[in-house]
Amino acid sequence: MPVAARIFSKVKRVANEQIAGSFLGGISAKKISGNYILMYHGVTTTGSTRFNSRHASIPCFRKQIAFLKKYCAVISLQDFFEEKFVTGKANFAITFDDGYLNNFTNAKPILEEFNCPATFFITGLNQINDNILWADYVNIASTLANADIEIEGELFRKTGNTYYSVSSEKSLYHIIKHQKPDYGFKQKVKEAFAKHVRFQDNPAVKEYWQLMSDSQITETARSPLIKIGSHGYYHNNLGTLSNQMATSELTLSKKYLEALTQYDIQELAYPDGSYTPQLVQSARQSGFTIQLAADHFLFNEAPDNPDIKKRYGIYSIDSCLNQLFTAISAPR
Ligand SMILES: [Zn+2]
Repeated sequence: MPVAARIFSKVKRVANEQIAGSFLGGISAKKISGNYILMYHGVTTTGSTRFNSRHASIPCFRKQIAFLKKYCAVISLQDFFEEKFVTGKANFAITFDDGYLNNFTNAKPILEEFNCPATFFITGLNQINDNILWADYVNIASTLANADIEIEGELFRKTGNTYYSVSSEKSLYHIIKHQKPDYGFKQKVKEAFAKHVRFQDNPAVKEYWQLMSDSQITETARSPLIKIGSHGYYHNNLGTLSNQMATSELTLSKKYLEALTQYDIQELAYPDGSYTPQLVQSARQSGFTIQLAADHFLFNEAPDNPDIKKRYGIYSIDSCLNQLFTAISAPR
């Protein structure tokens, strides 16, 4: 973008922020109507988008929560599913995917300060001595590595911050999501990158991938404000697996989290929003009465399907309050 356009864009963004801030007099806030489940991932010191846009900065997150608490109603996911909405206001439920340590260290204190209910969705990676989600590994390793990598005899080369198969030209991310969703292939991806790049000891990078420990999950579960829910066990895209495999992954996750929290785990957020209509039914039979898609439904469920609801993702692609407005006004 030319310098002038960049400055104009910045001025516009700041102006929008100030308009948003001034309604802090309440005028624009009144224009927000409807009920929304927000999907956060991380809350980090800077909210840097170097690796991905899934982390809000601490000041940004505080500003968003302060705004929602002042001008809207923030209710629990349970109340949202039971449609116990506060009348005359927009209602929001807050969710966090992936179980980052920064949820515990940065988001939880802010949620508690503002008496704001939320659900943290956690995988079972601690149980299998894996300590990093595959998507984070691929994002971070792809940004930091420079060499070609080889996985199962296939050569991958970097363009920008993305690795593409030299033969199929598909991105590695795409291949993992859609062609080789099993956990074993993800391990091979990590092994291939590990020959060229190592970042797990780098403190500047840690807050973008480090997960909560079991004891931190247990401590979070004791908060009267924060519920723990399932985010799958291996963080696989469950809609790409057989229904039997996906259901057994959910059962594993439920048992693991129930042992840590000492309560019935009823809330489920599908990793990457990946599910099938059959899996929604099976998950319900397994005791998941609250199920969440990601940014949109994958199938044409009736909007009043009581089992699954869509969410509105918050991404660090805009100024703080605009992240909220962008999320809830994006076409679905
Ligand atoms: Zn996830």
